[in-house]
Amino acid sequence: MKLKKIAEILLVSFLMVACTPKVYKEAQKKQEEKVHEVVEKLAVNNAPVVLDTLGNQIPSGFIPAVNFGSRKPFYVIIHHTAQDSIQQTIKTFTLERTQVSAHYVIGRDGYLLQMLSDELRAWHAGAGKWGNITDMNSCSIGIELDNNGSEPFSEMQINTLLLLLGKLKKDYNIPTANFIGHGDIAPKRKSDPSILFPWERLARAGFGLWYDAPDALPPINFDVETALRRIGYDVSDLPAAIVAFKRHFVQQDLIPLMSSWDKCVLYNLYRKY
Ligand SMILES: [Zn+2]
Repeated sequence: MKLKKIAEILLVSFLMVACTPKVYKEAQKKQEEKVHEVVEKLAVNNAPVVLDTLGNQIPSGFIPAVNFGSRKPFYVIIHHTAQDSIQQTIKTFTLERTQVSAHYVIGRDGYLLQMLSDELRAWHAGAGKWGNITDMNSCSIGIELDNNGSEPFSEMQINTLLLLLGKLKKDYNIPTANFIGHGDIAPKRKSDPSILFPWERLARAGFGLWYDAPDALPPINFDVETALRRIGYDVSDLPAAIVAFKRHFVQQDLIPLMSSWDKCVLYNLYRKY
């Protein structure tokens, strides 16, 4: 099959958006145009241009390989919208000037809305870092929960989230530890999902790690910074990383200091990563 034909098939599958309400036809047209641009790039058939140290192009060529698929995400990043209604979030993600999007939005009533194919790169993570990864948008799926940031997450919403996470974990073989929050990857800028988010419940269902009842005190030379870095946190601003860790794994206070309990939890988790 020719590369162009494969690109066409990919395009058709990307465009199979069922039942887009009339009011979002404009957004659908924009998305289709942009998918076309992505597919054009996928069907590249030029020799790569690589220059030597003198600025001369090295000999190169292009011969199409025929065995491939689309890239698969291997992280899931959970957000809260910090808005009062799902309509506000939909508006934000369907206007070009906002330059932000996510793959899924889940309503307070549990309604599941997809806004972008899993295999496209949404703009939800922004500047951030997890372990050595500095471009989380390229490797993750973004899920926005309709929540103003200070209210509890509804049971219906969490139920839908758990079902969606189960599907994504299975479809893309996402490792258990790779279900994290926006605040984890951008501790200096972001605090979502809030301290009220049920991370323990998610971890019990297989999405993200959790600590066991701590059975051992950390050793005397236990270094908080090293342990946070091992888990994945960007520790360039240590107090911010501590707050992010406590928001996710301790959920008692957001003081940028580690109590002896916080250290026990961190030590327990550190040994799992
Ligand atoms: Zn966010």
